[in-house]
Amino acid sequence: MSIFVTKSFLPPKEEYQQFLNQIWESHWLTNNGPILQKLESELKKYLQTDNFLFLGNGTIALQLAIKALDLKGEIITTPYSYCATTTSILWENCVPRFADISQHDLNLNPDLIEDKITNKTSAILATHVYGNPCNVEQIEEIGNKHSIPVIYDAAHAFGVKLNGKSLLTYGDVSTCSFHATKVFHTIEGGSIMCKSKELNDKLSLLRSFGHVNDNYYSVGINAKNSEFHAAMGLAVLPHLKSNIQKRRILSERYDELLNFDVLFKPHSKENDLEYNYAYYPIVLPDGEITIKVIEALNKEDIFPRRYFYPSLNTLDYVNSTDSCPVSESVVNRVLSIPLYPDLSEEDQLRIVKIINETL
Ligand SMILES: *Cc1c(COP(=O)(O)O)cnc(C)c1O
Repeated sequence: MSIFVTKSFLPPKEEYQQFLNQIWESHWLTNNGPILQKLESELKKYLQTDNFLFLGNGTIALQLAIKALDLKGEIITTPYSYCATTTSILWENCVPRFADISQHDLNLNPDLIEDKITNKTSAILATHVYGNPCNVEQIEEIGNKHSIPVIYDAAHAFGVKLNGKSLLTYGDVSTCSFHATKVFHTIEGGSIMCKSKELNDKLSLLRSFGHVNDNYYSVGINAKNSEFHAAMGLAVLPHLKSNIQKRRILSERYDELLNFDVLFKPHSKENDLEYNYAYYPIVLPDGEITIKVIEALNKEDIFPRRYFYPSLNTLDYVNSTDSCPVSESVVNRVLSIPLYPDLSEEDQLRIVKIINETL
């Protein structure tokens, strides 16, 4: 059987079935139904916030953030993320300005942000890559100093705690993805959280067409999610802790066995961090060895992914003149290797052996 970089977690079928029974009973399929309300309230409790909205996906969350903050002009962002971080900026007719990333965690380098600030800058949009926190203090300071909001793409960060608080609670706005491949998922889904209650109300309106009953307030979009997706969330949530624990055991085994005389692992320098073990990225010495490792794994039916590739500032449709040497170098040498709760020890040892023998 093929081994991919990840394998979506499915709860025991009976646990999902119990919610399906409720849906057949209520005949309420979407539009803020009882199961979705339950999921929102559970997640608000878990995240310890009132300003939380469950959405259709993590990309629409980014687009809504830019729309609701009424951002124009330039947004300073990271070249090292999934394409949705940049395309959401372009989709909202803003211009991405790329500052390079830090070597140790591959997150937006806070020391390079201010160089990119102009009189057109309207926000900072950074990603907590692999669930490792950005330098939230320094970025907040820059945001305050220039009176621009900070948005975090926290798609990888569900289950991460920094200084005892969910990483999703940092920033003026933070978005998350609950896509099937993420640590916590609702098949398709996402969320948005913000500091301000007023902004949360505006986002809630934008989420469902800009109207409440017969009162039409503004242009909106359909960014809602359904009872079926919320049900998956409620069925997956009770397993979050044990899934993260299983990911942790696997990650620590990789830490122990892979050849770190040659490899480098992106890591956070925060000391009060509770990590979610969302991914296991390795950075190799050069592009050639990286291709060799991919080929050796593929030959054994094992498929790592180049998270992230390419550097977003180099995409043709982005048309950027920003140069980001760290990001542009790392994308040719980075691999996320298989990590998911039921990856067997036997398969993991095979993966380690292939990688170490190819180096
Ligand atoms: C998954 C992901 C997204 C997109 O989320 P969807 O729910 O698939 O739309 C955005 N940013 C990052 C960093 C992601 O990993």
